[in-house]
Amino acid sequence: MAAEIQPKPLTRKPILLQRVEGSQEVVNMAVIVPKEEGVISVSEDRTVRVWLKRDSGQYWPSIYHVMPSPCSCMSFNPETRRLSIGLDNGTISEFILSEDYNKMTPVKNYQAHQSRVTMIQFVLELEWVLSTGQDKQFAWHCSESGQRLGGYRTSAVASGLQFDVETRHVFIGDQSGQVTILKLEQENCTLVTTFRGHTGGVTALCWDPVQRVLFSGSSDHSVIMWDIGGRKGTAIELQGHNDKVQALSYAQHTRQLISCGGDGGIVVWNMDVERQETPEWLDSDSCQKCDQPFFWNFKQMWDSKKIGLRQHHCRKCGKAVCGKCSSKRSPIPLMGFEFEVRVCDSCHEAITDEERQKDRIYSRNGCSNPNHDWSSKADVRVVGEKPKS
Ligand SMILES: [Zn+2]
Ligand SMILES: [Zn+2]
Repeated sequence: MAAEIQPKPLTRKPILLQRVEGSQEVVNMAVIVPKEEGVISVSEDRTVRVWLKRDSGQYWPSIYHVMPSPCSCMSFNPETRRLSIGLDNGTISEFILSEDYNKMTPVKNYQAHQSRVTMIQFVLELEWVLSTGQDKQFAWHCSESGQRLGGYRTSAVASGLQFDVETRHVFIGDQSGQVTILKLEQENCTLVTTFRGHTGGVTALCWDPVQRVLFSGSSDHSVIMWDIGGRKGTAIELQGHNDKVQALSYAQHTRQLISCGGDGGIVVWNMDVERQETPEWLDSDSCQKCDQPFFWNFKQMWDSKKIGLRQHHCRKCGKAVCGKCSSKRSPIPLMGFEFEVRVCDSCHEAITDEERQKDRIYSRNGCSNPNHDWSSKADVRVVGEKPKS
């Protein structure tokens, strides 16, 4: 018997460039200021800070502004240098940053929500400020007049917000695990559809307007890629985390999706790779391999004097199988399963070793510097890329 081929561990070490520290409490959001080597952060300690990289190579605060309430989220538009900050008291405060990023001038306040603002998106093309709040409301305001244009009540607290400028569709992920798609007009909205695919709450959404693909991350550890542009209803599951997915970001130019998990893991997904859709789970009253009845199938259990078994599903073919017929586990990178999942015995035989390890790059503990708490916990995996030998 040939020995199993071990995957070549191709190490990808994340390089720690800089740490920006200062906030006393949780930093709820931070964005990079393009071309400026700057960082804007908002924190639970009520501060808004703008950090610029100085000649020394260190980041120093150039703006330190204290808000009346904890800052929960923000949206920064680099073209107009407009900074919209969501507060715990439901207000959205808008500022314009000076060209040298040393000053922020207040523009207006929106009384957008009854409680904590959870997400903001400023849409320059339409002069709209989209937001969601702990009050389960999605609202949009005109940033010129400051007027509220409309609202929609979501079934649970929203935790993901994305907008497609071209078609004016808004995607709202919520804590019930659902993604709601609305079409926005100037002053009203219509419900287009809802996506249900997660078994846990949605924690992050990311929209790629070029391929027209929506990514949703969830506390159920998975990322689902909803292929809207493909028009075939394809949804691919990406399993690469051992903990809840906390954030998603998509790099359009390289077609890479970056997902961060609660376990400190960062996964870089190459979305140029063709992946197969996860099969629908089939329903059966008996194992579709050995024909043993499942435990609710009293008739067959009685007729054949057999003990009822627990039903499992093969992640590759979707068949309902008993535990005995699905004792093996395998990663299926082609289907987005970077970890070992349950497969039936025949699928296990059919998956080649090459397939199992194809395009698979796995690296752990990228940076070994023990002084860096962040990096000692970090686990960066680049998946879907052919190993360069
Ligand atoms: Zn069986
Ligand atoms: Zn199978």
